[in-house]
Amino acid sequence: MRPVFRFAPSPNGYLHLGHALSALLNAAAARAAGGRLLLRIEDIDTSRCRPAFEAAILEDLAWLGLAWEEPVRRQSAHFDDYRAALGRLEAMGLAYPAVESRGEIRSFVAAREADGTAWPRDPDGVPLYPGAGACVDANEGARRMAVGAPYVIRLDMRAALERVGRPLDWPEEGQGRVAADPAAWGDVVLARKDIPTSYHLSVVVDDALQGVTHVVRGQDLYAATAVHRLLQELLGIPVPSYRHHRLVLDDAGRKLSKSTGAVSLRALRQRGATPADIRRMVGLA
Ligand code: GLU
Repeated sequence: MRPVFRFAPSPNGYLHLGHALSALLNAAAARAAGGRLLLRIEDIDTSRCRPAFEAAILEDLAWLGLAWEEPVRRQSAHFDDYRAALGRLEAMGLAYPAVESRGEIRSFVAAREADGTAWPRDPDGVPLYPGAGACVDANEGARRMAVGAPYVIRLDMRAALERVGRPLDWPEEGQGRVAADPAAWGDVVLARKDIPTSYHLSVVVDDALQGVTHVVRGQDLYAATAVHRLLQELLGIPVPSYRHHRLVLDDAGRKLSKSTGAVSLRALRQRGATPADIRRMVGLA
């Protein structure tokens, strides 16, 4: 069977040099392994993703010299697949609704920290969910659900780990097997009231449905792999091998991101950069 690689950008902005590095590393790895390269558009956040950004992604990747298999999988066209996986987790008793907003969780945690309690944070620095009933009591939670207020579906991490009953690991290129620590993420969000999935859920479902054997992506997703590994175990789906690559940093040493205004590939192209220049700029010359 030929190895299967994928590049999976989100169309909520233009591609920057960090995306170029990831796409080029995937293409090179697929070529070296005699494998296939898939492109997946991760557009579950329908409020932030735009068709114009998706069109720009295809254009920028083609300009860079990349070729991928058709059809391109667009996540927003496959909500039924994620709903089915979510339904399985719910049927196992591992998922529950939670009505607290991000703001409510933040203020709850800030108040505890002001009292001198160190509150645990996930590997991305976000405070862990304090548990059902902590910031919004059960009656208010039930009232909100009854009136159709927004909610999220969370994974019951303790119950999920209990069900698995053994430590998990994943194969990371150059590191052998890496111990997974999903508990560090707490009760992660699996879906929202109006979106039947989350990044974590759709990425593992799609990697399995598309037969992805090799995940090559940025180091910023290394710790999240623990959650992916747990979901794979719960859903009984195959575990790809992983390679988390270095990030492209800006002059201030921060990872490039749309939110900090990283220069887009198209802006570089408009200023006269060639695909060879882009390779050099990401250290692949
Ligand atoms: N869609 C994610 C991003 O743009 C990448 C997901 C992945 O490669 O697993 O950061």
